[in-house]
Amino acid sequence: MDENEVPFDASPAIDARRISKRYPRVWALSAVDLRVECGEVIALLGPNGSGKSTLLRIVAGAARPTAGHVRISGESAGSEASRQRIGFLSHQMCLYDELTAQENLRFAATMYGLDSADDVATGALAAVGLSGVVDSQVRTFSSGMRKRLALARATLHDPEIVLLDEPYGALDIEGIEWVDRFVGGLSAAGKTAIIATHEAGRALALSGRAVALRDGRVVYDGPAASFEASTAAGTGGLESAGR
Ligand code: ADP
Ligand code: MG
Repeated sequence: MDENEVPFDASPAIDARRISKRYPRVWALSAVDLRVECGEVIALLGPNGSGKSTLLRIVAGAARPTAGHVRISGESAGSEASRQRIGFLSHQMCLYDELTAQENLRFAATMYGLDSADDVATGALAAVGLSGVVDSQVRTFSSGMRKRLALARATLHDPEIVLLDEPYGALDIEGIEWVDRFVGGLSAAGKTAIIATHEAGRALALSGRAVALRDGRVVYDGPAASFEASTAAGTGGLESAGR
């Protein structure tokens, strides 16, 4: 059996090598290397347009690089095995307004091929504090409730790796603090996580390591605690953390 031949720890959670992505008008990424060990929490920083979302989509297997290759625990990005290992909160959040919270998660659980989709959905809703609104249509939800539901949807298959694209977007302070606690819980559970945000401050506080992009290239890769003092943070482009 292949699984027994190679110890699981031999492969990093994410191994992205020389990733480039060309859109018709722009190179969104140019030869980006990113190796992430199991259990690392990374702040993926950079101004709008620097390539954060493109990199997360490629790691999630939702987009293909023009050049380069990504492995997820040794499996090619985009393969069924890699998809099961990854939870991805994308900008779009993948919620259906006309469905209830329970229906949204039941559908997602079915898409992941999970048994007892209804029970999985119920558990996931409880875990994000939405048990009281399981039968409400998502279009009645506040942005904070939507974000909780989207995070429940992204993690209901208990993935080892969680990719969060701008998780703080459109949230009030209560929502932002809730997201912080959620990410803290992932970290405590030993999950590997990447938090992509143009607001460095909060993500840095949750992360051990920071990776900053500018114009599709890595301009910082090191301890989160050293980022603010680095030239990558100081030369403009990263928007203020609003603190
Ligand atoms: P970020 O998430 O850091 O704001 P993106 O990855 O969204 O950056 O974008 C990186 C660059 O790629 C930008 O110049 C953006 O305009 C371009 N881009 C992103 N998505 C597309 C797309 N689907 N088609 C064409 N250009 C795109
Ligand atoms: Mg983005």
